[in-house]
Amino acid sequence: MFKDDYANHCIRCTVHDCKYHSGKENYCSLDCIEVAAHEKNPTSEKCVDCRSFECKHENSML
Ligand code: SF4
Repeated sequence: MFKDDYANHCIRCTVHDCKYHSGKENYCSLDCIEVAAHEKNPTSEKCVDCRSFECKHENSML
């Protein structure tokens, strides 16, 4: 569930461009997220992504 002013202290995140970022603190505001690899054989953190990400700027001109 998405709550605008909520910070889930079990999910640290610094992606401020995500619409689910808590804003005030470096945490996600979702109850749970989906994380997945975008490579067949992941070898480092660069190979995995948060699949729950949604851009908070999607309706604005960047
Ligand atoms: S959905 Fe993923 S990218 Fe977005 S704030 Fe939560 S953890 Fe960060």
